[in-house]
Amino acid sequence: GVNIKDLRKSYGSNEVLKGISLTVEPGQVVCLIGPSGSGKSTLLRCVNLLEHPNAGTINVGEFEATDPDVDLNKMRQSVGMVFQHFNLFPHLSVLDNCTISQMKVLKRSKSEAANVARHNLERVGLGHLADRYPDQLSGGQQQRVAIARALSMDPKLMLFDEPTSALDPETVGDVLAVMRKLAQEGMTMLVVTHEMGFAREVADRVVFMDAGVVVEEGPAEHVISAPTQPRTKEFLRRVL
Ligand code: ATP
Ligand code: MG
Repeated sequence: GVNIKDLRKSYGSNEVLKGISLTVEPGQVVCLIGPSGSGKSTLLRCVNLLEHPNAGTINVGEFEATDPDVDLNKMRQSVGMVFQHFNLFPHLSVLDNCTISQMKVLKRSKSEAANVARHNLERVGLGHLADRYPDQLSGGQQQRVAIARALSMDPKLMLFDEPTSALDPETVGDVLAVMRKLAQEGMTMLVVTHEMGFAREVADRVVFMDAGVVVEEGPAEHVISAPTQPRTKEFLRRVL
């Protein structure tokens, strides 16, 4: 799981995260929602230390991310990240996209890495496209490859940052279905999303952030269906 306590992050004089506390229990799915600029991506990027927090603590599984002595490589290996733009390697096949980090980082043999990759491509419904190249796939298929690539590193936690925001509407459903399945299989997930239907259906908890603070959190039937805070209500009026 993930345990974030009083996290602060500034860019110059702009304090973007103003004391965020947030927990994702092992096997749970937390959806993070909020307006543009509220700090959602910054928060995710702090969790695997792509950004360095100014204050607070972050624990990811057995790692204390904010401990200066933490084994950063080991910690990052345990966290899979899926972004809005999938950043597949264009010159590598789907299969090779899913094996390269396994071989480089986890030192798996080529055949072992290929077995793991094929298993995860099957999980996302793309076993039959292993030999294609990214530009021969739809956006939704590319995003599912990105998920298979992340899963191939055996993460304990998956972070998703608006994984469907850049997709054509007709491919969004396939990506959400894969994420729903992962959730059912017990993957620990922290998901930034504008897909309120997904959040309602899949999230164990929904966290609404605005201007660098957590305004409201709880089960979806509370935060999305019956919010109590004016800022949450206003946000949902605009997105629902
Ligand atoms: P969106 O929904 O548009 O993705 P967000 O909630 O993910 O928004 P962030 O990307 O975390 O928001 O940005 C929060 C604030 O931090 C914004 O004001 C942004 O301009 C600022 N910010 C983010 N990254 C940087 C950076 N590298 N340098 C300076 N300011 C930054
Ligand atoms: Mg963002």
